[in-house]
Amino acid sequence: MPRILIGQIKHETNTFSRVPTDLGSYRRRLLAFGDEIAPLLSHTRTELAGFMAAGKRHGWEIVPTIAADATPAGKVTAATWAKLSGAVIEGLERAGRVDGVLLSLHGAMVTEDQDDAEGDLLARVRQRVGPDVPVMATLDLHANVTEAMATNANVLISYRTYPHVDHIERAEQAAELMRRTLKGEIRPVSAVARRATLDGVDHGRTHGDPRDAGPMDRVLARAGSLEGKDGVLAVSVQAGFGWADIHAAGPSVAVAANGDAARARAVAAELMEAVWQTRGQETVERHGLDTVMREAAQRGDKPLVIADFTDNPGGGGYGDATRLLEAMIAARLPDAAVHAINDPEAVGIGQKAGKGATVTLALGGKIDPAFGAPIRVTGTVANLTDGSFVNDGPMSKGLKLSHGPTMVLKIGGIEVIVTSNRLQTTDLQAFLSQGIDPRRKAVVVVKSAQHFRAAYQPIARKVMLADSGALCSPDYRRFTYKKLRRPIWPLDEV
Ligand SMILES: [Zn+2]
Repeated sequence: MPRILIGQIKHETNTFSRVPTDLGSYRRRLLAFGDEIAPLLSHTRTELAGFMAAGKRHGWEIVPTIAADATPAGKVTAATWAKLSGAVIEGLERAGRVDGVLLSLHGAMVTEDQDDAEGDLLARVRQRVGPDVPVMATLDLHANVTEAMATNANVLISYRTYPHVDHIERAEQAAELMRRTLKGEIRPVSAVARRATLDGVDHGRTHGDPRDAGPMDRVLARAGSLEGKDGVLAVSVQAGFGWADIHAAGPSVAVAANGDAARARAVAAELMEAVWQTRGQETVERHGLDTVMREAAQRGDKPLVIADFTDNPGGGGYGDATRLLEAMIAARLPDAAVHAINDPEAVGIGQKAGKGATVTLALGGKIDPAFGAPIRVTGTVANLTDGSFVNDGPMSKGLKLSHGPTMVLKIGGIEVIVTSNRLQTTDLQAFLSQGIDPRRKAVVVVKSAQHFRAAYQPIARKVMLADSGALCSPDYRRFTYKKLRRPIWPLDEV
């Protein structure tokens, strides 16, 4: 019976964030070890569930080590990285012999002591298992893939959807290549290609409708057509994560080929050329707050969904920026809901006052007031909860998440969800679990750049991206890069 070690360590690190990522950040989202993992995740649409299901199908002995995920923020502390990576390495040591390693990683994780955390982990795994044991990893579509990752993994497979809804499918793709490798049918080797660009493929946006195809859809279609032919086993296109001041940030193409590193390199370079050529193409329009507020004054049969994308916790945004909310309060919007303002202090005041009480407090803007200072508001505490919910939409269905202690504060006609943990808005349950039905609102504000579309586009009369000038600005020139390779587009002439 082949013995396959599995594990998950994820983080998308925004090195410009002033919020460090520690073990508490993981505990607030997902942190489980060994035998705790199967009962927690086997019923969910996640990579580890995919690995475990494949193990059952193929008769593998699965050795579970760690399942860890934290909301994007600043660098992971060195102690936290030692604990997380140590769980995989100690798992290998305890297991003795393993026949294969399947890891679910993000690919854009930066720690206090490692600019390339995944490369470091894969190198340490390779060192333990030797050159002949297959090591494969799934990655996020926003991975910054490095040579260390490609050299030490036989296969790297990233999502092909943004919003990311194919975690299970990618895990199954990796597990199938593992099965074939264990049978001796294939011997995968990987290569990665990059160019002098920090940005590209429309930030990785995919569109369900082929008539609406963007640059990412087109390069993914080409990737799909190459897989399974002429020794090409897997082709992955990564949009990269630009809010990371590391050497290798930016789009990349990773290819696994059967025993042929030169073939892998050639295919990766060919697709990366397409990524390079289309680097300036975008499929979304962004709006200033004035334009968005004019649209919010209109009524329709369904809600206007406004994405406050520069404050997206899913990109490391603080989730407490106030400029959009301030504009909504000034406009006295009658029937609106906001997910969310991250402000544990305000939640504490609401808890003390109790449900139904009227409170006056300073809301949001506390992590970095440069993105909108705290605003003085008076409202009614409409609800108080523990903030937990279970995703039931297209993204990571079945996965339990928590906002931490949460308050719904009603300011005039605006219901604001005030949380203790930062979470991107991806699922309708973010509102429903707090007693707010977003489908019945005139205006719904989400903190997300693209993932919200999976659940919120179908309920919207219109979607608008509002630029409120917070941390996750798409204008990379606002940031000071010291470690990034130069020259690079769009910062320099290239
Ligand atoms: Zn992503």
